[in-house]
Amino acid sequence: MLYSDKVENVSERSSTKRRLLILGAGESGCGAAVLAVQKGYEVLVSDAGTIKPKYLELLQKYNIPFEHGGHIKASEFNPDEVVKSPGIPDNWESAGGLLMIEHGNFVKGDRVFPVISEIEFAARYTNAKMVCITGSNGKTTTTSLIYDIFKRAGLKVGLAGNIGHSLALQAAEDDAEWYVIELSSFQLDNMYDFKADIAVLMNITPDHLDRYDFCFQNYVNSKFRITGNQSKDDFFIYWNDDPVIAAEVAKKQFCCKLVPFDIKTELPLSDDELSIKGKHNRLNATAATLAARAAGIGDEVIAESLKTFAGVEHRLQYVDTIKGIRYINDSKATNVDSCWYALDSMQTPTVLILGGKDKGNDYSYIDRLVNEKCRALVFMGLHNEPLHEHFDGCGLPIADTDNISEAVKQATRLAQKGDTVLLSPCCASFDLFTSYEDRGKQFMREVRSLCS
Ligand code: ADP
Repeated sequence: MLYSDKVENVSERSSTKRRLLILGAGESGCGAAVLAVQKGYEVLVSDAGTIKPKYLELLQKYNIPFEHGGHIKASEFNPDEVVKSPGIPDNWESAGGLLMIEHGNFVKGDRVFPVISEIEFAARYTNAKMVCITGSNGKTTTTSLIYDIFKRAGLKVGLAGNIGHSLALQAAEDDAEWYVIELSSFQLDNMYDFKADIAVLMNITPDHLDRYDFCFQNYVNSKFRITGNQSKDDFFIYWNDDPVIAAEVAKKQFCCKLVPFDIKTELPLSDDELSIKGKHNRLNATAATLAARAAGIGDEVIAESLKTFAGVEHRLQYVDTIKGIRYINDSKATNVDSCWYALDSMQTPTVLILGGKDKGNDYSYIDRLVNEKCRALVFMGLHNEPLHEHFDGCGLPIADTDNISEAVKQATRLAQKGDTVLLSPCCASFDLFTSYEDRGKQFMREVRSLCS
């Protein structure tokens, strides 16, 4: 069913201003607010936390009503539609029970209607074509690469979704002809009428199951929403060697053009010429190539971009070589699968730093690579027990730490000249850091301080 069929009341109120409630005053919420005001909505932005100064400034610049530190005004606001930040789960009750979302629907008295994402909202107000990228891993790298190719091809292109500025703000302030959008499953869950002209699905491995009733199929269904509403002129590009994706594609019917790829799909340059290394990056480069070709971009431009693309921070990012030891920051590896790919691409004996907020990880997935590639392990977290339980019998030297400075020192002590120290934690960062970026930055700072 389309979202528009589900919403009652909206057309009946057309003589009055439509009312939009926006939950969460971050990049997406504030962007949606600016666009909504521009399109004549009555808007309220409501955030339970503290709004960052740059977003406060934006709200004030456009005279947008807001509240923070709670949802009191929101509970008195009678919206026609609700946009929520992807960080708010699909089943949620605000403190004190003032607001409620049940199974992705906003519930107020006897009214129940779907909550939409900022991307769904913004897409109504732009005629730009959309390239959308999702997957458990590789989204940001592939999205950034596609954006780089489109820019190089001279197209007016915007970067949106989890990276760059919100789609809504760009549609409001400086609309583009193309948008390259990184989509998480959380964003996809709140998209209904949206259509990607080019959809890219990188892979599906268990992640975020806590948000999907611990049912993997729910997460798979969420990822496949990226193909929703696609028609015959649209493209669906997917990694065909992923058993989960292949099985799902076989089950479904598609009206769009299917473009499967694998590690042998030909690129417009040799693998050695690719600027980003490792099997996973070969796959990311392949997906980006196919997306660019679907948009009509020639191989020459694509090859130039693939040769020079600088990579993305905190993803297998080279930091420095000190006393013959290479240090690599892969702080964005917040699940076991991404650590697998990082280890797989290691060319020297490796001291792996891992640990953090464990999301119920199954470390047996990396056992073979730990055995083949690692010289030692350094655990870094407030609760290293699950790591000990799994790896203590593996026969490698293990250091136990609960801070980055100690972790880097121990890793350096355990490494030999010619080795690599790899931070690829398998876990979220929130036990010791504010974000994976914070973790990566602190790691790089500690590494650089070894020189002094
Ligand atoms: P995402 O945005 O999906 O989290 P990123 O591009 O930020 O993905 O990469 C996150 C981590 O995932 C990287 O540090 C790398 O170790 C790993 N990774 C990147 N691309 C892939 C891929 N295609 N398949 C599996 N792992 C990948």
